[in-house]
Amino acid sequence: MRSWPTVAIPDVDPKYSLPKLTLKDTLSGTKKALPTKSLYRMYVCGITPYDATHLGHAATYLTFDLINRYLRATGAEVRYVQNITDIDDPLLERAKRDGIDWEDLAHSQIELFRGDMVNLHILPPESYIGAVEAIPLVTEAVEVLKAADTIYSVDEDLYFQVRSDAEFGTRSHYSQVEMQEIFSQRGGDPDRVGKKDVLDCLVWLAARPGEPSWDSPFGAGRPGWHIECSAIALAYLKPDPADDYAIDIQGGGSDLIFPHHEMGASQVAIMTGKPYAQTYVHAGMVGLDGEKMSKSKGNLVFVSKLVAAGVDPMVIRLALLSAAYGRNRMWTDAVLAEATARMARLQSALSRNEVAPTKECIALIIASLADNLDTVRALKAIDSWIEQTESGLTGGSSGELSRAIDTFLGIAI
Ligand code: ZN
Repeated sequence: MRSWPTVAIPDVDPKYSLPKLTLKDTLSGTKKALPTKSLYRMYVCGITPYDATHLGHAATYLTFDLINRYLRATGAEVRYVQNITDIDDPLLERAKRDGIDWEDLAHSQIELFRGDMVNLHILPPESYIGAVEAIPLVTEAVEVLKAADTIYSVDEDLYFQVRSDAEFGTRSHYSQVEMQEIFSQRGGDPDRVGKKDVLDCLVWLAARPGEPSWDSPFGAGRPGWHIECSAIALAYLKPDPADDYAIDIQGGGSDLIFPHHEMGASQVAIMTGKPYAQTYVHAGMVGLDGEKMSKSKGNLVFVSKLVAAGVDPMVIRLALLSAAYGRNRMWTDAVLAEATARMARLQSALSRNEVAPTKECIALIIASLADNLDTVRALKAIDSWIEQTESGLTGGSSGELSRAIDTFLGIAI
């Protein structure tokens, strides 16, 4: 699948030292420093293309963009892979509801998503892979799991035995009751008769009448959701045998912690004999005016609609940076108004001939981001610099600050 065009990132002046990046790890529940490396492998779960791109998506991809930018600024290479679940029940259901072809719906939504990512200055993944194009990889992965004796069939469908991974459940920290409840809310089938464990997950769904299917060694059908990501991640990130985990960062929105990421991690553990990721990173959810934002409530706010209404995408980015990435937050008119005002003050301060000293502000932006992407603290540093400039302090370089804001926060002014 074609990715989207990249944006240029200004270089960092070597006079600034970059501390190790620490990130909150979902598995341990603590902040953890990434080891210093020349190549990082990052997998972030992509969209199912039927409701792109709402602010929750934007906040998630922005989070991993900050990680990508920071690691690149250290001089490292970031091998970044993202998928698109371009065949799945919700996509087929939406296409049927709206009376359109599922492929047309997927293509139009993927195109919209690409445009939104470009507008928000989100660096593209090196590999952007659709579930359909990954079907041969999925069947290979199922064969590996089968050889490890972790696959069984119910009728013609294939299931993965989640308990074959002794660590199953340890990454998401839910009780058995909670796991069953969330599993059934998020595409799982705990009540399917014939399963060995209620939480076992589908890896291959045999062809159903009237639904698209593809040939495979297990008969015609289509991939399950979790195995799609596990297969794509391993094939495109190419784990380093020297590492004692498969990849460096596995990420997505916090609604993917269970079952998606737990089950994917179990599959990878069986396939590689190693923990899936060094760090599991999750972005919080974005609500609207005090309510959860969801398609069922019909209150999704779309990036493309805001942009069409005249909102500068850089202001949307700035607004999303104004809250901690890991927490659930609310989108309100006030959040947008505050970001609009902050952007105007910043542009005005940066356009002055004389500006307050910038070196300390840049160092603070870097230190804040290194500390679990603390964008709130980074923006406070920028606000203080604006105040100093407005009060007449001089001695800084607006060009240097503007470049650093672009490099680390992705805000081009
Ligand atoms: Zn995924």
